[in-house]
Amino acid sequence: MAHFDLTDSSAVVVIGSGAGGGTLSNELAQKGVKVVCLEAGPRLSLADIVNNEGTMFKKMSWLDPRKGTGQLHPQFPSWSCKTVGGTTMHWEGQCPRLQEHELMAQTTYGEVADTSFIDWPLGMQELSSFYAKAEDKMGVAGTNGRPFLPGNNNYKVMAAGARKIGYQDVDTQHMAINSTVRDNRPSCQQIGFCNSGCAIGAKWSTLYTEVPKAEATGNFELRAESMVVRIHHDAHGRVTGVDYYDKGGVLRHQKARAVCVAGNAIETARLLLNSHSDLFPGGLANSSNQVGRNYMTHFTICVISLMPKPVNFHRGTQMAGVVRDEMRHDLSRGFWGGYSINPVPFPPEFLAAHMQHGGWGEELTASLQQYDHLAGLMMMGEDPPQATNRITLDPEVTDQRGMPIPVVHYSDHPNTTKMKAHALRQGKAIHSALGATKSYEITSLPATHNLGTARMSERVNDGVCNKWGQTHDIKNLFVSDGSLFSTSGSANPTLTIVALAIRQAEFIKSEIEKGNI
Ligand SMILES: Cc1cc2nc3c(=O)[nH]c(=O)nc-3n(C[C@H](O)[C@H](O)[C@H](O)COP(=O)(O)OP(=O)(O)OC[C@H]3O[C@@H](n4cnc5c(N)ncnc54)[C@H](O)[C@@H]3O)c2cc1C
Ligand code: SF4
Repeated sequence: MAHFDLTDSSAVVVIGSGAGGGTLSNELAQKGVKVVCLEAGPRLSLADIVNNEGTMFKKMSWLDPRKGTGQLHPQFPSWSCKTVGGTTMHWEGQCPRLQEHELMAQTTYGEVADTSFIDWPLGMQELSSFYAKAEDKMGVAGTNGRPFLPGNNNYKVMAAGARKIGYQDVDTQHMAINSTVRDNRPSCQQIGFCNSGCAIGAKWSTLYTEVPKAEATGNFELRAESMVVRIHHDAHGRVTGVDYYDKGGVLRHQKARAVCVAGNAIETARLLLNSHSDLFPGGLANSSNQVGRNYMTHFTICVISLMPKPVNFHRGTQMAGVVRDEMRHDLSRGFWGGYSINPVPFPPEFLAAHMQHGGWGEELTASLQQYDHLAGLMMMGEDPPQATNRITLDPEVTDQRGMPIPVVHYSDHPNTTKMKAHALRQGKAIHSALGATKSYEITSLPATHNLGTARMSERVNDGVCNKWGQTHDIKNLFVSDGSLFSTSGSANPTLTIVALAIRQAEFIKSEIEKGNI
């Protein structure tokens, strides 16, 4: 691994080592660009991963204080990771592409009250080759001739019920999980603890793919347990470096040629807002007043049903499966946009707390006692951008480093309320078709997809970044994570984040060669 001096301004500083930051770092390092990656969380190894959701939640999740308002949990509005690898440690590996019409949301959906829809500043023609590169990098099962993963019992229940009620587009999903030995990593052994981190490394995570590959180039230095609190700029408004607290809690300043922020959409917005100055009083790259706005999540709601025979839904790849039929845009259903249906398991202790809020007594415990008969579905749908759903800085409360904590505000758009009701009906219908005797709804999970808070836009006033993720205001300041999403679409976001990071690395390299940054 390379080592760069704090005063060395030749390196690009990447903030965060997750899907966006880890990928961008490796792509730049492979192209000969020097990179310092500052990551707030610790560096684990595969040996640190145990098959226990509770233990790994505490080890990997972002547990620094946040405040949720609107309909969010007040203390834990969103679930992401603070560890090398970012949320690619907790994630499930689902890797669908966005649909072409979703990239043109404003054109497709027209003027919708209380939304701030725009079209993405790039279309499928520009994106599709980068999707193919991302799928190849991540070894996505079911793409480029790679076999699909096998279906576990929970998937088989979903697939059979879905087909029975008329759905057709059903398979074990494009998954960034090895279906065969690949990239010096084993194939999935169906252990069933994917969101605890995958102890054998079959699931793609930047921790053991992008990060070590970047290190092997000699152009890359990772500094773990290094929390960036401010980005600095010069009198001309170009960024010059960052302040961060190192492993020992000492405040350091790292100089930079350019800065790429990939802290996951809440932390990215928080950092840009916290880097306000006399020149940029509203925060960096915020002349449009769009930093932190248009926060989108994809709703996630679940149906858990008691089935007539054992399912053992905890066994096998946790979320390998999808029903795509409802992802279409079809106003005859009473809402615009679409949603996917996916298999999902939960551990018993989670179900005891969430399967029936406020539930108590014989009926609930009788269902829990039949844990082996439970089947689960998660429905995930397009979330419209709303300027009022946003990240701001708490004016009073600071974290352990003295940085204002983020306030995350989110409320459903009426369209989402309609889509959720439809999704719950369809989820229950799938299980009923196979004789479910009881179905429970889980409707208040924390957000796991954080998007849109520094979005790409054609017009400067509509967003924060251009189609390369370069901020409209500062040409050597980039955003490199899910914050970039102009709209959410209905697809899980990580494949798109990785595709955009690969594309951004090509742009940054060419800007360096042209002497622009
Ligand atoms: C349980 C779960 C399941 C999921 N399943 C899927 C799935 O199947 N498919 C899918 O597409 N997506 C899934 N996701 C979402 C996916 O993990 C994220 O979309 C993706 O990882 C986001 O990438 P990112 O680069 O924006 O942020 P992250 O991957 O979260 O990386 C951000 C990194 O930045 C670091 N950081 C933040 N602020 C700072 C700072 N100030 N200084 C230094 N470092 C900082 C963080 O510690 C973190 O490591 C899931 C998420 C969860 C929680
Ligand atoms: S089921 Fe597969 S991807 Fe999930 S933890 Fe096990 S080996 Fe890893």
